[in-house]
Amino acid sequence: MNMSIKTPIYLDYAATTPIDQRVLDKMMPYLTSHYGNAASRTHAYGWAAEEAVEGARVEIAKTINADSKEITFTSGATESNNLALKGVAEYLREQGKHIISVVTEHKAIIDTCKHLERNGCDVTMLPVNAEGLVSIEQLAAAMRDDTILVSVMFANNETGVIQPIAEIGALCHERGVLFHTDGVQAFGKVPIDVKKMNIDLMSISAHKIYGPKGVGGLYVRRRRPRVRLSPQIHGGGHERGNRSGTLNVPGIVGFGEAARLAREAMPAESARTFALREHLRQRLSEIPHAILNGSLEHRLPGTLNMSFAYVEGESLLMGLKDIAVSSGSACTSASLEPSYVLRAMGLDDELAHSSLRMTIGRFTTRDELDYVADQIKFHVERLREMSPLWEMVQEGIDLSSIEWTPH
Ligand SMILES: *Cc1c(COP(=O)(O)O)cnc(C)c1O
Repeated sequence: MNMSIKTPIYLDYAATTPIDQRVLDKMMPYLTSHYGNAASRTHAYGWAAEEAVEGARVEIAKTINADSKEITFTSGATESNNLALKGVAEYLREQGKHIISVVTEHKAIIDTCKHLERNGCDVTMLPVNAEGLVSIEQLAAAMRDDTILVSVMFANNETGVIQPIAEIGALCHERGVLFHTDGVQAFGKVPIDVKKMNIDLMSISAHKIYGPKGVGGLYVRRRRPRVRLSPQIHGGGHERGNRSGTLNVPGIVGFGEAARLAREAMPAESARTFALREHLRQRLSEIPHAILNGSLEHRLPGTLNMSFAYVEGESLLMGLKDIAVSSGSACTSASLEPSYVLRAMGLDDELAHSSLRMTIGRFTTRDELDYVADQIKFHVERLREMSPLWEMVQEGIDLSSIEWTPH
């Protein structure tokens, strides 16, 4: 083992990221000396807080080619997704009740859609193909006269697969349907232009881009069309009435700085993480029967998801004790259910169970990835040696031809 490597090695940047030291430095004064309420209009403490919040809003808006007035701060992307879907459904209730989304969305979208369905909305969940992509033709065919909203995530949190966002946006605008995207995984990692891509609403989160947990945002388009929402949290009318509650000033300041750093580093950082991810992918492809999950072409630079046939995922994860990876998303990995995202892409339970999601981030090194690749290879081989299935595969027996006798 390379002794310069510090374990456990963190390869779960899609679940959350550490706060960048530069972000924390920027936040600190707003936790202690500049503690004003950004809504206090009568004194310098309030003005300083408001100015910092507005500065952060500008940095976040700039990252997606929006106007700062179009950013509503929330407690995170789960809330942003809830606000977008429930807020639009409620506001446009008279106009229509049909919403279209996709089976591989984050739970914050899927569960919100289910809630809306129980409350009188019609929801169509589009399938994805084996690469994890939605079809524009199927989306077009699913649209009805009473469709009010389409919600398709920018990039998937389990596979990194990037959907054809600009095409979806163009189609939605042509049909006069609002387009929301859960942009959490893509924000700060790949270029996003809400104008060019015809995005009307987009959810984002600070803790996925080296900012603090508990802060997020919703981009809400103000022109062509002006998007209106029914607020889901009522109170003092903060955030242009979209979301009441005293603003989390230090968190927002951190979010702004995290967005600025991500935007400025994006060209170099996406090339670096892409090269690292390809290195890891190639090393893991040396393992026989290793399968890449999701499109290689349409994918975030730093996200890799692979299945290792004939090993049991739980045992593999147990073996990889000093590597922080996940099988499925953080939200579902506690349940031991095979990933619904991979199942939707046509993987059988076994392959979905033997999957690993590995996400590379700002602090990942090539040495770490070599160590990870060696470890995965070692444990896959070890587990296969103990597997009667693997023995049969080695003997050339086609497992799909076997009729298993129930016991
Ligand atoms: C993490 C994540 C969320 C939830 O964001 P929070 O800020 O943690 O609530 C939503 N969607 C996607 C795609 C995510 O990866």
